[in-house]
Amino acid sequence: MEKNICVLIEHENDEVIEPSLEVLLEARRLADMGGYAVTALLLTGSDAGPLCKGLGRYGAGKVCIMEHHLLIDYTTDGYAKCITGFLSKNHTDIFLLAGTSLGKDLAPFLSAKLETGLVSDCTVLDINENGILEMTRPTYGGRVYTTYRYRPDELQIATTRPGVLGVGSVQIDRDIEVEKIDIDISSGDIRTRVLGYSKVDPETLDITEAKTVVAFGKGLGDSEHLPGIKSLVKLIDASIAGSRVSVDEGWIHFNRQIGQTGKTISPDFLICFGISGATQFTMGMQDSRFIVAVNKDPYAPIFKVADVSVSGDMHEIIPILTGKLEKVKEKYLKKHDEV
Ligand SMILES: Cc1cc2nc3c(=O)[nH]c(=O)nc-3n(C[C@H](O)[C@H](O)[C@H](O)COP(=O)(O)OP(=O)(O)OC[C@H]3O[C@@H](n4cnc5c(N)ncnc54)[C@H](O)[C@@H]3O)c2cc1C
Repeated sequence: MEKNICVLIEHENDEVIEPSLEVLLEARRLADMGGYAVTALLLTGSDAGPLCKGLGRYGAGKVCIMEHHLLIDYTTDGYAKCITGFLSKNHTDIFLLAGTSLGKDLAPFLSAKLETGLVSDCTVLDINENGILEMTRPTYGGRVYTTYRYRPDELQIATTRPGVLGVGSVQIDRDIEVEKIDIDISSGDIRTRVLGYSKVDPETLDITEAKTVVAFGKGLGDSEHLPGIKSLVKLIDASIAGSRVSVDEGWIHFNRQIGQTGKTISPDFLICFGISGATQFTMGMQDSRFIVAVNKDPYAPIFKVADVSVSGDMHEIIPILTGKLEKVKEKYLKKHDEV
């Protein structure tokens, strides 16, 4: 029987999301090492055709489509019913999902239903010399990395941390086989109803989910400077976070602390103001995609992990930056309105 890696493809607003493309690309890399086929699994409430385009370039050999009006909105029950049904009929050795909100919700449910394990939040996946999947993830708040293997012949389920694997090296487009899968689902299978969607307030969004984060540390000096940083945060739709000192000072809540005893984040864009860059802090943010650090000490350790280092006083830089960004935003909105 052909060995197979199956990847769940998530999509939003008729586009496949980047974390799923990362997983797919990684699945292709593993497949080439271990002699697997790669299947992309797409669940949708409407025509899946446009979503299939380009999946070959990210490594899919085959796309299996499950289309049903009950899949217009994501529900744990609906997706789990379809996926468990699919996996019971289609031989799969490894099932991979991006560790998005959906992935974090669905993966444990699937592993319980399918009576197998789950290794979540992997930052490294590999195939060892015996052709076995090895999954590595940070544990104890990132102090150690632990590598896991499943027992032979178990369905291996893993989620990967978004933003870590990257989508840098897409491949040449390959011909993909597309198969529509029959679905056995009724409204009675789904115990929840989606009543609507509301835009998340970035200020209250969990910092591990945010795409843009503004963090500050002891360099803030005094709570009187908080309004300045908050207006910058609001202007760029960011989430606010900080070092342990900013928590100890009572400037932000503990659930916004980055680091060893706080949270590990990997947003697309992170700005750090007045943070020295102690290892207990950097271990919680070093996987961020693009890091800007502002510090008045030109030798601050934070500059070692930053993509852009700005040596200067944050209290001078924040108002200038906010003013410039306000103008850019205004221009953009004007142009957008005119269209
Ligand atoms: C077991 C353990 C666990 C820990 N866990 C965490 C954790 O999870 N998260 C965490 O953050 N820390 C943690 N710490 C604490 C950590 O070691 C550091 O003490 C902490 O990160 C320092 O925070 P800071 O960078 O805000 O402050 P500081 O180290 O005091 O740095 C302040 C920085 O601001 C700069 N600065 C000052 N004024 C300005 C200005 N006007 N403009 C620009 N720059 C300015 C200074 O040059 C300096 O670099 C932990 C420590 C231990 C022992």
